[in-house]
This record gives sequence, structure tokens and C-alpha cells, in this order.
Amino acid sequence: MKSLGVFGGTFAPIHSGHLRLAIELKERLQLERVHIIPNARPPHRAIPEVPPQRRLEWARLAVGDEPGLFVDDREVRRALSRSEPSYTYDTLVELRHELGDAPLYLLLGDDAANNLHTWHQWRELFDLAHLIFVERPFEPPAPPAELNAFLRGRKAQSAEALRAQPGGLWLPLSVPPLAISSTRIRRLLKAGRSIRGLVPDAVIHSLTPQDVLALTHDEDPAYD
Ligand code: ATP
Ligand code: MG
Repeated sequence: MKSLGVFGGTFAPIHSGHLRLAIELKERLQLERVHIIPNARPPHRAIPEVPPQRRLEWARLAVGDEPGLFVDDREVRRALSRSEPSYTYDTLVELRHELGDAPLYLLLGDDAANNLHTWHQWRELFDLAHLIFVERPFEPPAPPAELNAFLRGRKAQSAEALRAQPGGLWLPLSVPPLAISSTRIRRLLKAGRSIRGLVPDAVIHSLTPQDVLALTHDEDPAYD
């Protein structure tokens, strides 16, 4: 493997914004593969009503046969044998072992990026991977001074600079923004409105009344 992107999330449900982001970054960073990794027990929000197995199935349906995208079930499998939350740190440790010295890229929306200081072992993520921050068309939370101070000096000047080392740097990248969030999709479902165009058709067609009920009972995350 020459380079790998990691795109984690709750994906309740996965939507076209997620899919486009994975594809755009794969092309922009010339990644061999992007692993889409649904979490089992997100540390920063209520455990979703929708079981992880179902969120995994939706991710597989959304990805279909798109080349280079791969749905990775490791966080869901890990939750069967360990009781901790799904920490990105643990996932990157595993992937780093599998990859050797190839560059590893953690892909994050700016809402998640600006909350990085609340993540388990957040500084150590840079020992394992590069971080790529992508703007979303919503106002993100302001990053605290502690995070800004840490990021200063670790900013890459270009995508080429990232390719020259396995991890340790971050780069902001802009991709054409799609104003879609899972929160908005859950709200539309709650209101009985259509979600066509926001969520891949294969996922929409698989939704059972029980899925819709679980999605509409999901609490809003602390940030979305
Ligand atoms: P929710 O509203 O439930 O928080 P979400 O749409 O934010 O859902 P998550 O599963 O929380 O989706 O996000 C997973 C990752 O995808 C995060 O890094 C988030 O910033 C990013 N992301 C989600 N939607 C988009 C989008 N439209 N454009 C770019 N990044 C996105
Ligand atoms: Mg979110």
C-alpha cells in the first residue's frame, strides 16, 4: 500500500457529503485507498440508536463499487471484544502496523478538527498520521488556543510535502462544499420529508420503518 486515507464517523446515516469528500480527497491526495470506518461507540456523543452493524451496511451500500473506497468494520469488530469507546487513536495504531512507513491521512471536517483537543491521545495522532482538515459550509466551533499552539509549526506547505513522510503534518484542503449533515437528514425524516439527493438511493431503498424510527429517535450530537 502506497498511501491510505482514513475517514471515520458515526454515519447515522452516511450521506452524499461523506461520499463526495472521500472521493475528492482520494483524487486530490492521490490515495491508493480510503477506508470509511463507522464507529461503534462514539466518545463525544450519545450512542446512536441505530446499531453499528446497520450503519456499516449503509456505508457498504453507499460506496457500492466505487474504486478505491473500502468500508472498514474494525471499530465495530473491536467493540465486540473490548468495552472502550471507539478511539481513532486505536484505529490509527492498528493501521500504522499494517502499513509500515507509507503515508497515512486522517480526513476530518472542520467541525471535528476544531474539537480535536477533546480526543483521546490527540497529540499522539500526529505520531501516526497526517491530518487533513476540510471546510464544511457551517460555522465550526472556534479552536482553543491550546490546539492552535500545537498545530503551529506542523502545517504542511503542500500535498507533496505530505507524501514525503508517513505522518506528523496537517493540511487544510477545500473541496466543493455540500451542505449536508446527518443531523439534517434525521430532522427531515422526523418531519416526514424526502431525503432524495442527500443520501445515495441504494441507502434510501434499504431503509426499513424500524431504521427510520431509530434515526428519528437519535439525539442531536453536541456538534454537527
Ligand atoms: P451528524 O450531523 O450526526 O454529526 P455528520 O453529517 O456531521 O453527522 P459525522 O458522521 O458526524 O457526519 O461525520 C463524520 C465526518 O465527516 C466528520 O469528520 C465530519 O466533519 C465529516 N463530514 C460530514 N459531513 C460532511 C460534509 N458535508 N462535508 C465535509 N465533511 C463532512
Ligand atoms: Mg458530525
